[in-house]
Amino acid sequence: MRLRDKVAIITGAGRGIGQATAVKFATEGAKVVVCDLDPETIKETVEMCKETRGDAMGYVADVRDIESLESMVAATVAKWGRVDCLVNNAGIVADAQMKNMSEDQFDSVIEINLKGVFNCTKAVVNTMLAQQSGVILNASSIVGLHGNFGQTNYAASKFGVIGMVKTWARELGRKGIRANAVCPGFVTTSILGTIPERVLRALEEKVPLGRLGKPEEIANTFAWLASDEASYINGAVIEVSGGLTI
Ligand code: NAP
Repeated sequence: MRLRDKVAIITGAGRGIGQATAVKFATEGAKVVVCDLDPETIKETVEMCKETRGDAMGYVADVRDIESLESMVAATVAKWGRVDCLVNNAGIVADAQMKNMSEDQFDSVIEINLKGVFNCTKAVVNTMLAQQSGVILNASSIVGLHGNFGQTNYAASKFGVIGMVKTWARELGRKGIRANAVCPGFVTTSILGTIPERVLRALEEKVPLGRLGKPEEIANTFAWLASDEASYINGAVIEVSGGLTI
């Protein structure tokens, strides 16, 4: 078990990639804090985690709300004594072409996908510094590397979380804390719900592996990066896209 007794907070873990990551971490022996907005989806993920070799607790916290995040970290430390890993996974889309994108669409995505990552990391960093160890993992996207039609806001947020990871890798590396970003391609979760089926099929055609990604394939990458097997991986930006961008 690669994450035996490690304590991990995973945001946006009620469904999709976050849920798959919570279950994978628990399967690898971790104690998982399932952070999300909806108590029902949190409960479902906690139950799935408890069916594995790990343990889990749910916490309703909004990544926009620093107070709820600080309470979550305090509750985690009270229960399990430490925080070994933070997976900044929560994210949204609000797509429109630049000419039509409203300020609200821009701000809502930046507030969750970029400021939310700052907030969550701010809430855990002192705990990790006191421990002199920790791993911070940011969910970016191939869109953060290459841009995408109709995603000015999302591309800015996902490029931004790469900048934060590289900064933290420099600032925190000597304190025993690693920071890395994962850039998924197109992965079958509800976030793709607004993309028409014909566009998804066309995307699939472009992937050298001939298919979209599975949430578990991103979860496996997060789990490896959180483990001691990745002890020299710091400031890395790892694309998991089936080769879509080559
Ligand atoms: P998803 O299925 O839509 O799940 C996102 C989760 O984040 C949901 O459980 C959602 O909660 C939660 N969330 C949203 N706003 C939140 C907030 N303010 N505070 C706490 N939790 C919040 O998305 P996904 O596809 O799994 O994506 C996970 C991450 O991977 C995102 O950062 C996304 O940008 C990134 N990514 C995904 C893909 C892809 O193709 N799927 C590709 C590249 C990158 P509710 O359900 O309650 O709204």
